[in-house]
Amino acid sequence: MTQDPGADSAGASGSSDGRRRYELEDVGFREVPKRWRKFYRHWGGPTDELAPNEMLCPVCKVIVRSVREFREGDRLYCMPCMTRMVVVSDGNGGLIAQVVF
Ligand SMILES: [Zn+2]
Repeated sequence: MTQDPGADSAGASGSSDGRRRYELEDVGFREVPKRWRKFYRHWGGPTDELAPNEMLCPVCKVIVRSVREFREGDRLYCMPCMTRMVVVSDGNGGLIAQVVF
């Protein structure tokens, strides 16, 4: 059996939900302990384009990253400001994070 290292297209075996998976890197987000750093990055402002696996925290404007692309209904947690969020439609074909109280 061989594994195809380039198999990350939709429907690839191993991800039954067909979501695209991402390899996260530590990009130097020092506000959280080292093992969590790769899940966050600083927002570059309105011109900063978010990847499908990234959500902007509406509270502290930090970008929360996931190993999978986000879908509506996903829950996420922003460790820097301890906010819980859920992914919702922005009514424009996009997705945004909404704070859960
Ligand atoms: Zn936050």
